[in-house]
Amino acid sequence: MRMSCEASRANWASATLTVDLAAVRENYRLLREHAPGAECAAVVKADAYGLGVRHVAPALVEEGCQTFFVAHLDEGIELRRIVGRGPSIAVLHGPQPGSEAEFPRHGLAPLLNSLDQLERWAALARNRGTRLSAMLQVDTGMSRFGLSQADVKQILADDRALSHVILDCVMSHLACADDPLNIANRAQLDAFQAAHRYFPKTRGSIAASSGIFLGGKYHLDIVRPGAALYGIAPQPGRLNPMRGVVRLEAQVVQVFEVAANTAVGYGHATRVRHPTRLAVVAAGYADGILRSAGSGGAVWFGDVLLPMVGRVSMDSVTVDVSRASDSIRAGTTVQLLGPRQDADGLAAAAGTIGYEILTSLGNRYRRQYINGSEYVE
Ligand SMILES: *Cc1c(COP(=O)(O)O)cnc(C)c1O
Repeated sequence: MRMSCEASRANWASATLTVDLAAVRENYRLLREHAPGAECAAVVKADAYGLGVRHVAPALVEEGCQTFFVAHLDEGIELRRIVGRGPSIAVLHGPQPGSEAEFPRHGLAPLLNSLDQLERWAALARNRGTRLSAMLQVDTGMSRFGLSQADVKQILADDRALSHVILDCVMSHLACADDPLNIANRAQLDAFQAAHRYFPKTRGSIAASSGIFLGGKYHLDIVRPGAALYGIAPQPGRLNPMRGVVRLEAQVVQVFEVAANTAVGYGHATRVRHPTRLAVVAAGYADGILRSAGSGGAVWFGDVLLPMVGRVSMDSVTVDVSRASDSIRAGTTVQLLGPRQDADGLAAAAGTIGYEILTSLGNRYRRQYINGSEYVE
């Protein structure tokens, strides 16, 4: 019932999100080649950054990816169903109190981010008379997840702390990796290596997408890109080496002319100066076209830029089509994301980052996956 309802809605969707799985695979290969000494894992949290983990993860498995990271336990459980038994899945948030037993049940390895998580994980293993795999996260300066230096000293002083834990990896996360000149990067790497030294047989990992481009010292044993797989530039402001993955196209609902000095949209935030031909495009902030993109944002018709006019509405955005003569009418498709404007580009207009654009993409689009091993819609 629900399924058919969704299907019929999707049949008439006025906007289509196309995800190029071959581009995801190519990006994975590129990142792997960039860090040749390391295993290249893939971060597919938040539904593969909004692109659809059900499609993205199998494509990455086909490309040889053997380790995945998700944020939440539920994401791990879903991903296990998708990829089957083979690949390793690590859950970044670690076990929430009471959820510990779900991890071995689904073949998931938690990150242990605090002494509390470590104690609960070790207790589960001890009670079962077995040893359980996990990754250990240390905080090297981001002040988010992970054990402090003092915590690490404490577990080293306690023989029992890790006695039932198989440590697959010690990892940390860089706060400023998108800024190669930031001295925090080196400080975090040094702090990481100081902690990693206590676990000489355990693999280490510190680099996400941007960290991979900080140089070989940061690659260690495992790199864990997310965003770059999906086409986001790992080094903002530099030429993006990644291939574009998403295309977002929406239809025009209506076209009309307004006279000079006419106010457009909510709050009458904008007034056109000249007589202007406007088109209403069927995607708005409920679809992830952030409201903050309204001033300075644009959509594209072929190679013609159509500036947004006035505020983005929930279901639509109005654009100036004067420059496209009269070739735009109801039903015409314009591009919001694609070769002309990638997620980083739309993000710049909205004062945010490409990550937020992708993870905000709505669920009213017809979603189309191309260049997968099978064509799925
Ligand atoms: C999200 C996340 C990643 C992936 O980061 P990208 O910048 O998207 O490559 C890697 N490691 C951790 C701990 C994360 O939270």
